Amino acid sequence: MRTGDFLAYRTVPLGVALAATACVSVFAGSAAAQTTTRCAASAWRVTGGTADEHRLICEGVDQTSTLLESCGITRSEPMDMVVVPSLVDFCGSEAHAVFDSRDKTIRIAPLDVCASQKTDKDLFQFVSPDAAYRSVAAHEAAHAILDANGMRPEQWVANEYVAAVSQFSSIPPQERERLILSVARPGTVSDSRINAMYYALAPLRFAANSWLHYSELPDHCAFLNDLVSGEYAFAEPPL
Ligand SMILES: [Zn+2]
Repeated sequence: MRTGDFLAYRTVPLGVALAATACVSVFAGSAAAQTTTRCAASAWRVTGGTADEHRLICEGVDQTSTLLESCGITRSEPMDMVVVPSLVDFCGSEAHAVFDSRDKTIRIAPLDVCASQKTDKDLFQFVSPDAAYRSVAAHEAAHAILDANGMRPEQWVANEYVAAVSQFSSIPPQERERLILSVARPGTVSDSRINAMYYALAPLRFAANSWLHYSELPDHCAFLNDLVSGEYAFAEPPL
């Protein structure tokens, strides 16, 4: 989403994951803020927050990193993720997490804050807190990787599509199915339903529809690469 002279992407009250990637603690320590964790697969760094939050964030990040890397969409340099004390400011509103392209950092609120400050149509309302939190990290990790791959501001709908796919991919299948039934209508989703208007009106449904659309693609990697390169763009509805 465009914000002035920089790009920031948030995870709106959405939010999951399955993953099984482990994290490696660089510095010993159990729960508090001075611990840095380096995620096992991506080598991204997590600071602030608790050991459990680090584990979930790393699982989400590593899942996205693995998913996109399997399609040749990679990021060479490790990224920083910081658990901050409260919801993250996003242009005057609050979000569970935000990727800021200025300092290439993802800021994410603590798990208990995300889970307790949920709203209607909030991911945390439909899936378990751990899965939701993991998926928030997966979502923002996609934005960071896409930024590193040169996606332009005008490609933000495609950017949100890939982030949503990464996020839903990280949700355990049973929970994901329940979530989709709660917020969208299972079945074929045409390209025309992936657009800025749908995102603005119902971001969680947009995310579910993105996943449903992606699920039926004959060649996932080809489509993702076409989105990143700009070869393919979702059409915008007339105003
Ligand atoms: Zn996003």
